[in-house]
Amino acid sequence: MRIVQKYGGTSVGSIERIRHIAGLVAAARADGAHQLVVVVSAMGGETNRLLNLARELTPTPASREMDALVATGEQVSAALLAIELNRLGIPAYSFTGSQAGFFTDGPHSRARIRRIESSHLQRRLDRGEVPVVTGFQGVDDDGNITTLGRGGSDTSAVALAVALQADRCDIYTDVDGIFTTDPRVVPEARKLTHICYEEMLELASLGAKVLQTRSVELAMRYRMPVCLRSSFTDGAGTLVTEEESAMERAAVTGIAFHRDEAKITVRGIPDHPGIASNVLGPIAEAEINVDVIVQNVSEQGFTDMTFTVSHEDYTTTMALMRELQPSLGAREVLGDTGIGKVSLVGVGMRSHAGVARKMFETLANNDVNIQMITTSEIKITVVVEEAVIDRAVQALHAAFHLEQEG
Ligand code: ASP
Ligand code: MG
Repeated sequence: MRIVQKYGGTSVGSIERIRHIAGLVAAARADGAHQLVVVVSAMGGETNRLLNLARELTPTPASREMDALVATGEQVSAALLAIELNRLGIPAYSFTGSQAGFFTDGPHSRARIRRIESSHLQRRLDRGEVPVVTGFQGVDDDGNITTLGRGGSDTSAVALAVALQADRCDIYTDVDGIFTTDPRVVPEARKLTHICYEEMLELASLGAKVLQTRSVELAMRYRMPVCLRSSFTDGAGTLVTEEESAMERAAVTGIAFHRDEAKITVRGIPDHPGIASNVLGPIAEAEINVDVIVQNVSEQGFTDMTFTVSHEDYTTTMALMRELQPSLGAREVLGDTGIGKVSLVGVGMRSHAGVARKMFETLANNDVNIQMITTSEIKITVVVEEAVIDRAVQALHAAFHLEQEG
């Protein structure tokens, strides 16, 4: 068995934690002589600390130097873990992203992995050694250090598992796995033993912030099984893998929700071909992600368009819309930051009818007003007032009996 293990920031957050995970690595090796590669994040809080140091100097530090700066966080964890593994008698060696052969494209702080030249890690594995690799980083073709975006160590780990043709990628974090919904909102939420890539992708991008979305996309593309588990407690975690036979599966697997959403409505736009692209094009150009989009049936030649963006993009998007308003000929631009969205997710929806009806009925019975609705094959999303999100999630979790297996 060849396994890539990844430990996140809290899992390597102190010397004590590093001792603990060195023990986990040792145990995994003893248990079946696995060929092991370890990928680590920076110690919890370290990436932010480094970013803040630079901001004390200037609000506009050079992006190349920022990458050089934040990449050191992972280097500290990797070296410390290798030191501790050596102390336990395990032949471990730390590698930076560049040493490990992670070649990326150019844009600093959001680079993408192009290829991994893993032949020397391969040789170490063949000799029974344990490479400890820094997550989150690589090197571009000009030799500059690059980083992969916040949470990027997940993507490093999955990419390395793919490159080394590992049997599995184990991602250790501070939660026990993926739950049917956030247990802080629904205490009865149940840990899922497995979930398929597509469902995980919906849950990850909808705010169940456990895995970087890109890492799930990568795992899905190469069919790499990913196991999400806690480094703090024992337990099998949640296996993210291919969809199993849909015969007996429940319609709904989990409920995702997102509080930090905002809604923007452009009213009274003269309706003619091209308005959707005139409204949404400039937003896309500003690299702002638009989520739910609704255009009304036009009345007397005028229509309204409503869409959602995240809170952090709200001010910029509103400014952009106000600027565009005269050229669009729109009557007014309205904004509302007090909204959020709730989504039912499940590949079982493909073969079960009536999920939407039950969802809307449940929300109505609980006095939750739906502002917008959007669906895909495996997801139904409603936009609702932010203040009722908890109530909506609790009611839906109970109505679909998600606390019960299958
Ligand atoms: N240390 C980086 C971050 O905090 C990368 C990671 O932990 O995945 O975003
Ligand atoms: Mg993370």
